[in-house]
Amino acid sequence: MTAYMDHKNLANTDISDERRREIEDGVKVTLDRVHDAEHTAYRDEGSVTLLAATKTRDVGEILAAIDAGIRCIGENRPQEVLAKAEGLIAGFTERNLAIPFHMIGQLQANKISKILPFIDTVESVDSLKLAERIARRLDEHQTIGVLLEVNESGEDSKSGCKPEEAEELAYQIAAMPGLELQGFMTIGTHVDDEKVVRSGFNHLRQLRDDICASGVEGTQGAQQLSMGMSADMAWAIAEGATIVRVGTGIFGQRAFI
Ligand SMILES: *Cc1c(COP(=O)(O)O)cnc(C)c1O
Repeated sequence: MTAYMDHKNLANTDISDERRREIEDGVKVTLDRVHDAEHTAYRDEGSVTLLAATKTRDVGEILAAIDAGIRCIGENRPQEVLAKAEGLIAGFTERNLAIPFHMIGQLQANKISKILPFIDTVESVDSLKLAERIARRLDEHQTIGVLLEVNESGEDSKSGCKPEEAEELAYQIAAMPGLELQGFMTIGTHVDDEKVVRSGFNHLRQLRDDICASGVEGTQGAQQLSMGMSADMAWAIAEGATIVRVGTGIFGQRAFI
């Protein structure tokens, strides 16, 4: 169990008016940034989905973001999914909303079955082994969305398959029953140099274009590009991101890592 989970009740639904206003402002400012980046890149407004990265945030904070206009959420840790799922489902039901719930962090084999009932898309599939494990644990007629995570930066600290393995892996995943290959995900290179960061995003886009044009069964729908976070989302949108994953820009600095 991660240490911060001892300090914060992630199932809490009761937040202060001040915290609610802070989150409303965070969502508004971030949505404005997304729309500005869409216009700058001559893209249609609304062509990019703003996913709220909700690690360390409790149910009340997440529902405040939903009330402010967030329509997609992503969790990093299976334990957090389990701690919040009941409260989130109740909140979504109360609001009559279906909010796509993505897994964006590493998924250990022993946690897959537990989180599958709550998750619509796993963005962090980076090996055939993980894809097979997910497929095996699905119910008979269940399907789940998958993004192939690619380590475009080459940084050892990052998860994701090697770029040169991505094409073959994508074809294998696209052929697996129960898995719907929806696209690709990457975490930007951790540097300030725009050229370097953008070249990683650009490479992922080219990979996506090649794979979608391959004619291989199950790849035509793999259009999503989940790339860009608080610091590099404008560059990612300029390079074709369809999903940006933002945490601190919406909720503020994390008190726990
Ligand atoms: C935390 C996280 C984000 C959001 O990062 P911020 O810098 O807080 O916007 C995006 N993607 C992944 C995979 C994350 O773990």
